[in-house]
Amino acid sequence: MHILVLNAGSSSHKLCCYAVTAAAVAPQRSLWSAQIDWHVEHVEIRIRSGGQTHQESCAIAPRKGVLSRVVQTLWQGPQAVLAAASAIEGIGHRVVHGGADHQQSTVITTDVKATIDRLREWAPIHNPINLEGIELMEQILPDVPQVAVFDTAFHSQMPMVATLYPGPYDWFEQGIRRYGFHGISHQYCAQRAAQLSGQSLNRLRLIVCHLGNGGSLTAIKNGRSIDTTMGFTPLDGLMMGSRSGAVDPGILIHLMRQGHTADEIDHVLNQESGLKGISGVSNDLRAITQAIADGVPRARLARDLYLHRLKACLGSLIVGLEGLDGLVFTAGIGEHSPDVRAAVCQSLGFLGVTLNETKNSNASQDEEISRPDSRIRVWVSYTQEDWAIAQDCWQLLRPKP
Ligand code: ADP
Repeated sequence: MHILVLNAGSSSHKLCCYAVTAAAVAPQRSLWSAQIDWHVEHVEIRIRSGGQTHQESCAIAPRKGVLSRVVQTLWQGPQAVLAAASAIEGIGHRVVHGGADHQQSTVITTDVKATIDRLREWAPIHNPINLEGIELMEQILPDVPQVAVFDTAFHSQMPMVATLYPGPYDWFEQGIRRYGFHGISHQYCAQRAAQLSGQSLNRLRLIVCHLGNGGSLTAIKNGRSIDTTMGFTPLDGLMMGSRSGAVDPGILIHLMRQGHTADEIDHVLNQESGLKGISGVSNDLRAITQAIADGVPRARLARDLYLHRLKACLGSLIVGLEGLDGLVFTAGIGEHSPDVRAAVCQSLGFLGVTLNETKNSNASQDEEISRPDSRIRVWVSYTQEDWAIAQDCWQLLRPKP
């Protein structure tokens, strides 16, 4: 079954096409993939198929036309991998917020779209652009069933104590509660680590560290998310690239009393904080690492604070799990920064974590980096959200016996 996956973001649209034939955790290579980056005055398009990459740049144009042209290269022209548009049998969409309504992936209907729209209030950067992507694909490929895969769904079964905020109970009834995010990645990486370990996920206590520009940790017991660091919005928890993570809510009251508007506070917490806010250099850990080498003191402080907050969150989840069998690192920093992995694992040395330094320094995709004598196993797992979305899509749309 050919499944097209769309991950629609505010500054880029990522697409890929898989030929899914069976349920599989281990990721399959996509037949075709494309990325559209939207800049102020121009659009950059990169299409990969059959081992070839085609790149082009054009003047800014409406999304529908550009998306339609890129999707058509699936069956037309030199990048074509399908005989016709009709070969596409399902389209999977990453949707950031499914609220309490969507606890699993679902075939998209008018009601599902209405819910995604209603939840825009809680995910203003993501849900509108996800919904727009769904509606554009409905226009481009009107006969193809579409599936929404939610970043919140994996956390929807968290115990009540991990779901509530200790404000008035009325908050919970209004939907002000902890939802958690990055669920597609956390679930995929937990399954992948279990597969790599040769153990059943149902017997493992794991923590997945999704460390990208955004970052969150999830405690997973018997295959279920029991706690996670992001909450009502993706702003909670860890210090991130340009997001603060958790701060004393009293600071926000203080800023409001100083006359700052909600939009200003939103901008500061989401865009001007985290690694960028502390270092004054960048939200990108690579630039921070270079600045540390160049002797910039605030760059070192930013990295130290990043690790401090990460370890604090990790400690709290380990205690909640009442032990730990495995730790999984994923996303940009988790996959590519041996230094961050080593610093975290060193602080867990008292629990018997020992790293194979050579493997940690040269970790390739999906590999165990702990030593055989380590009491807690440690893996690097490259997150494959698109593959996970394609799998859910296939599960929902495949012909049932
Ligand atoms: P997003 O949350 O935007 O999907 P990614 O998962 O792509 O982010 O992670 C992006 C971050 O990963 C970058 O900001 C950078 O800090 C970090 N990163 C990527 N490659 C490396 C590397 N080789 N060394 C250290 N950090 C890296």
